[in-house]
Amino acid sequence: MKACRMCKKIVEEGETCPACGSDDLSDRHSGLLIVLDPEKSEIGKISDVKSAGRYAVKVR
Ligand SMILES: [Zn+2]
Repeated sequence: MKACRMCKKIVEEGETCPACGSDDLSDRHSGLLIVLDPEKSEIGKISDVKSAGRYAVKVR
């Protein structure tokens, strides 16, 4: 499982991020953030999360 370096989205399969289209993926990430509703989520305000889904907390 990889995470996008640009938006931290967890990428389940494939080599490009479905959220932002970046192919800059890393398998060195930690933490898991599940965003159900980025509009209402506190996390959505802190991080630059624009769509629901699973995100890594840290991506190296
Ligand atoms: Zn991305």
